[in-house]
Amino acid sequence: MIPEPTLPSPKSADKYQPGLKDSARYLKGVGPRLGERLLQKGIGSIQDLIYHLPFRYEDRRETTQISRLRPGIKAVTTGKVIAVSKSGRWRRQAFQAVIDDGTGALTLKWFHLPGNYLQQKIQKGRVVVASQTVREYGDLLEMDHPELEVLEEGEELDSLSFGRIVPIYSLPEGFSQKTFRALTNQALSLNLDQLLDFVPAELLEQRHWLDLKGALHNLHFPGMDADLHALNEHRTLAHRSLYYQEFFVLEMALALSRRGLSESPAKPISGGDAQIQKFRSLLHFQLTAAQERVLLEIEDDLARPRPMHRLLQGDVGSGKTVIALFCALRAIAGGLQAAMMAPSEVLAEQHWLNIHRGLDQMGISSALLTSGVRGPEREKVLNQARTGELSFLVGTQALIQEKVEFAKLGLAIIDEQHRFGVAERSRLKAKGKGETPHILVMTATPIPRSLAMTAFGDLDISILDQLPPGRKPVETKLLKAREVNAAWRELKKRVGQGEQAYVVYPLVEESERMELQDATQKFQELSRQVFPEYRLGLLHGRLKPEEKEAVMEKFRVCEIQILIATTVIEVGIDVANATAMVIEHAERFGLSQLHQLRGRVARSDKSAICFLVAHPPLTDPARERLKVMTETTDGFKISETDLRLRGPGEFLGTAQSGMPPFRFADLIRDLKELSAARNDAFQWIETGNINRPDLAPLRKEIRQKYGKFLHLARAG
Ligand code: ADP
Ligand code: MG
Repeated sequence: MIPEPTLPSPKSADKYQPGLKDSARYLKGVGPRLGERLLQKGIGSIQDLIYHLPFRYEDRRETTQISRLRPGIKAVTTGKVIAVSKSGRWRRQAFQAVIDDGTGALTLKWFHLPGNYLQQKIQKGRVVVASQTVREYGDLLEMDHPELEVLEEGEELDSLSFGRIVPIYSLPEGFSQKTFRALTNQALSLNLDQLLDFVPAELLEQRHWLDLKGALHNLHFPGMDADLHALNEHRTLAHRSLYYQEFFVLEMALALSRRGLSESPAKPISGGDAQIQKFRSLLHFQLTAAQERVLLEIEDDLARPRPMHRLLQGDVGSGKTVIALFCALRAIAGGLQAAMMAPSEVLAEQHWLNIHRGLDQMGISSALLTSGVRGPEREKVLNQARTGELSFLVGTQALIQEKVEFAKLGLAIIDEQHRFGVAERSRLKAKGKGETPHILVMTATPIPRSLAMTAFGDLDISILDQLPPGRKPVETKLLKAREVNAAWRELKKRVGQGEQAYVVYPLVEESERMELQDATQKFQELSRQVFPEYRLGLLHGRLKPEEKEAVMEKFRVCEIQILIATTVIEVGIDVANATAMVIEHAERFGLSQLHQLRGRVARSDKSAICFLVAHPPLTDPARERLKVMTETTDGFKISETDLRLRGPGEFLGTAQSGMPPFRFADLIRDLKELSAARNDAFQWIETGNINRPDLAPLRKEIRQKYGKFLHLARAG
């Protein structure tokens, strides 16, 4: 075989051929000014330009004879200029040209002057191609501000903008579709050898994907037989090839991170049977079959000298806490420490209030660490964590972010994980001093499949797919604000029968802006006017922990019958006798919050009811949230809807925003490619060779894009 020439041909030897990484400014016709405009659009390099894909495509494969044009229909037509005229003066000047193709005449009209360039080119006798929706003006047909191409003498209709499926771009300032197309074409005609595929060749072939170069060519200038609909849906083979490639890089990074983790040492945890027995005897219930199964899965992980990295997924009320405690007990029995983290101060506090009595009974030293714990008390907790005196620490992210030191952290439990991302989890590795703690992540809001494969893609998954026996779905009713009396009547009926209820408000204090009802004020109002004959209590975030505990204790023993609360009860309160809930301003709450809240009344075999009280005006997403709440209690359906309504970034919360975004792919739309990429990447790590020379671009991309994020020590 003759090798490709490596030297530029003599003719172009003096001409500079920019490379992919060079600034797009070096393309012909760009220069500093337009270069700046491109940059404002995020297009710095020539590669950026090539990656800037059309957002839409227009079918201009066929041209229509002028006699066949119809008003209101968009068409591409061609004809010879037979007249040109200007009218009006100065800024109000208009411009028009009449074209004729032998079957009829069409006016092309501009309400302000088109650029000089176009004016000069539109001369009598020239052939033009025009594309626009046709309008009727008196007896004549016209196109206003058509996209126009004026042909040179003898030129064929084979430009970038006509006679084909034409790409439409989101444009930087100072560019027309046409000039931008020309620029893209110029970039694509350069030497693209640096556009290397990240995906191993055999996978591209197996899956029948296009390579990167081919896909990009196709996406900017699709072939004549391309599927217009698929193009506009962004789901052609070329599109999907890019998505797969992008996902593949992430999945390889996750697979590597997983492998890195599974190669780091951890303390095996296996003893503690006696403590577990004792704890079991303290429970007033039997574990469900699902709980027993999940427990076995976790204990199996814990017993290995490699760190567990497991996600426990179970709907609200499925009994995750008790599993976490079992695991903690084993770790503690093995002489290690355990930490449990919640995503907010309030939730951490609630958690601690709930479990510390149980721990006391077991003779286990535990403490709460939030920013509310200050001064000498804080010093004491930190000190005891450092010496190992403290066995169980409950807190927020602060546990892993601040300078909290553990003597021998063996198990880290992350509850209600949502706001903990891959990055947070990988930071946990550092807390174990040479040995990595076992990690158990728990979520009540089921994680949609797409996220289980990305943001949580480094975890093994256990599923609690069973609620404790006798639980019934909570009946859920949507009320308008003026119908709220129906809810109060139901509460009276139930409390009269000895049951208890919650009334939830979104905020503690009146906010001038949002005009939300203040829980404190509402508490007084409800006490005096609606429920004078009942015992009401108030719980909100501003109370001190002791005060909160006192209120919760009163509710627990039914001294308080109706608890007026802000969202502090979202997680943590656990009173089986409470069977009714009224959520005021339900439109303000997120879906997962609503689901969590409602879960508070699904704690026994009594039939429970939840009223969602909506105060107009409702946004469309709010309406949809409330609708899905009334339709289902299935956490999976709810979180899928949540993901769809909010998008992955929002759904995952702030901690996740550190995850580099995808350039092309969409987690929801492109689930199939994600699945395929995950499958292939994890299999590659098992059986393939990531150190192969041809995979150097892949290794580099993984390092650059995800290295820091995943704390990858080395990507191959
Ligand atoms: P979540 O999974 O939402 O965190 P919890 O762990 O708070 O759920 O458990 C919900 C309630 O169910 C608690 O009152 C808990 O004591 C109780 N519970 C847990 N497991 C069982 C079981 N196997 N049988 C009966 N009740 C259980
Ligand atoms: Mg829980």
